[in-house]
Amino acid sequence: MGKVYLTGAGPGDIELLTLKALRVIKEADIIIYDRLANPDILKEAKSGCEFVYVGKEDGRHIMPQDDINEVIYQNAIKYENVVRLKGGDPFVFGRGGEEALYLHERGIKFEVIPGITSSISAPAYAGIPVTHRGVAVSFRVVTGHESPHKKESQIPWETFKTDDTIIFLMGLHNLPKISKKLIEIGKPEDCPCAVISKGTTKDQIVVIGTLKDIVEKTKDVPTPALIVVGRVVELRKQLQWFEENV
Ligand code: SAH
Repeated sequence: MGKVYLTGAGPGDIELLTLKALRVIKEADIIIYDRLANPDILKEAKSGCEFVYVGKEDGRHIMPQDDINEVIYQNAIKYENVVRLKGGDPFVFGRGGEEALYLHERGIKFEVIPGITSSISAPAYAGIPVTHRGVAVSFRVVTGHESPHKKESQIPWETFKTDDTIIFLMGLHNLPKISKKLIEIGKPEDCPCAVISKGTTKDQIVVIGTLKDIVEKTKDVPTPALIVVGRVVELRKQLQWFEENV
């Protein structure tokens, strides 16, 4: 019986992988990975390491989560060191918690290796600090997968009226509904927004707009992408640094 390492792969830039993640990747007998994990990371594995792709993108799963859980479990019975490699951080909308529960219920040992989440690092590479003195005292990371107009929406939309930063993951396809909803609850139409696509990679695209025009401006932006809403977005004008370095 082996051990499963629920490992964060970071947001894209391979150098944002933690030393601990790199160590378990080098020692892995098998790596079960998602689409969002940078595939170059797999080159660090030892020869003979097995790779299993259980692709996952924007909340749409190529393999249903129940099957992924079972694949991890079955391999934990078979192998000593199992790495479950997930984009960003495994516990930020990565369903890592569900995978950990599945293993716990079956008596499989596991460790969680946090990763640098795209929700903070993609804004950072876009020159947008998620908090800033005098601008935003907090930030929230919210699923954009759920339609804001669903009757039983679990998202507390009314609480988004403040100046705090809101980061939506998995929300690009719902952006028309999200921006409309935020205007409906009383946020100003000119509230600054950013859409960051493929953040921290050489293909990073950053589009700046307002709640009113961001949909129009981001029609052709590829995924994965996240949305940042709030006055911190304006800091990019002075803090943009990444594009000049790649
Ligand atoms: N666990 C991941 C998030 C998984 S949900 C993390 O901590 O980053 C998948 C969503 O994350 C995508 O739909 C997108 O909104 C966001 N995302 C992941 N990688 C991204 C990247 N490099 N640039 C922008 N958004 C990204």
